[in-house]
Amino acid sequence: MEELKKYITEKGLTYYIETYGCQMNAHESEKIAGVLDSLGYCASPEKGTADLIVFNTCCIRQHAEARLYGNLGALKEHKQNVPGSLIAVSGCVPQQPDAAQKLMRRFPFVDIAFGTNGIHKLESMLYDALICKKRVIAADNDDSIVENVPVSRSQSPSAFVNIIYGCNNFCTYCIVPYVRGRERSRQPDDIIREIDELCQNGVTEITLLGQNVNSFGSGLSCNVSFSELLKRIDTQTGVKRLRFMTSHPKDISDDLIDCYGRLKCLCEHIHLPVQSGSSRILQLMNRRYTREHYLNLIGRLKERVPDIAITTDIIVGFPGETEEDFEQTLSLVEQVKYDAAYTFAYSKRTGTKAADMDGHLDKKIVSERLARLNALVKQTMRDKNAEYIGKTVEVLVESAGKRGREEMSGRTRTAKMVSFESGSALIGQYVMVKIDKIMAHTLHGVCVDRENKS
Ligand code: SF4
Repeated sequence: MEELKKYITEKGLTYYIETYGCQMNAHESEKIAGVLDSLGYCASPEKGTADLIVFNTCCIRQHAEARLYGNLGALKEHKQNVPGSLIAVSGCVPQQPDAAQKLMRRFPFVDIAFGTNGIHKLESMLYDALICKKRVIAADNDDSIVENVPVSRSQSPSAFVNIIYGCNNFCTYCIVPYVRGRERSRQPDDIIREIDELCQNGVTEITLLGQNVNSFGSGLSCNVSFSELLKRIDTQTGVKRLRFMTSHPKDISDDLIDCYGRLKCLCEHIHLPVQSGSSRILQLMNRRYTREHYLNLIGRLKERVPDIAITTDIIVGFPGETEEDFEQTLSLVEQVKYDAAYTFAYSKRTGTKAADMDGHLDKKIVSERLARLNALVKQTMRDKNAEYIGKTVEVLVESAGKRGREEMSGRTRTAKMVSFESGSALIGQYVMVKIDKIMAHTLHGVCVDRENKS
């Protein structure tokens, strides 16, 4: 591909990536950037002048997909403004059956469409588009794991690492298993090697990614479970903070609960999506746990680590949800006292079981319930944040705060965002901060020790 690299570097081509959706997509954008950087492209801070625009898409909610189409339509003029420029659409939208072909027909100015499994083919797609002037589609169901795809991460002390791809769960509202295919775990040695390299390059905090990290290991011949992987990372790499997402409540093992408080690097935070507080709705969602099972897990986690932070995802207005079901969700939120909850109105996705269920709710009822839930979540978040006032916490500094260099911000082990005054840039350092007030979503404090670096 020397011809392609020569073409890109001689012309000084630039790229701009717009990412939609979850952390998985954010990490996949880092891989797309890695491939483009390795070919000689330069990242452009502005979309308006870029020679290649990539929309890395999400299809989990109808709203996100509609927003994509709106934004994509606006790019028609870009091709005139920047002659010779390319438009690429990647990720979950083109990975859906027949979607890439439909997208190319609807938007004739799109040059490349590739799915979640196509990043490693980007080089040859660019050759076809740039050198052979062809429009290209790569959205097949080849779900093999390709290692050693270059990754361009932002300069940060934190990094994402994939451990498992796909999902076998088929929650009835979710399109992901149809798009990202069945579960495939990476080899533990490949994961350890990647984390080790990141640590050697100054990363100290790792977030392991997967649609359901708890299923890690199923299908691997080496018989390493998720909790065993955590133990290996704790002992075999230099990582200081370890996080993971997302966990499925039905798959949390005793051994995993036991890792909390025992593994030094494992942060005192778990994101455990509950989706509903009603066992009846959970059954319709095919979540395969009950309200009681979920609350039991929370109880055991809190017993193990009393100040563990718990965050969740909740869907409001699933087909057939009654006022009584919804009140069960409210009472569960009150009982668990979440540190944060990401709340969503149910979104109908064609091809899922829930889309064909009876009892789809009126939008007005759903938004009224969502507003009630959000008000409660806001209150529990405030109550949880208030518990930090007067406490001194370890913060990994991630960036300048809203007021530039005078203010720094970072996260506690419990994933709370903290800002504090600072005369110097401390990005990547661990500092101790005494919390003095709480804001709407974050904490504020005074730095009392800057020496606690590792
Ligand atoms: S566990 Fe359920 S919600 Fe999560 S990706 Fe799989 S099917 Fe979707």
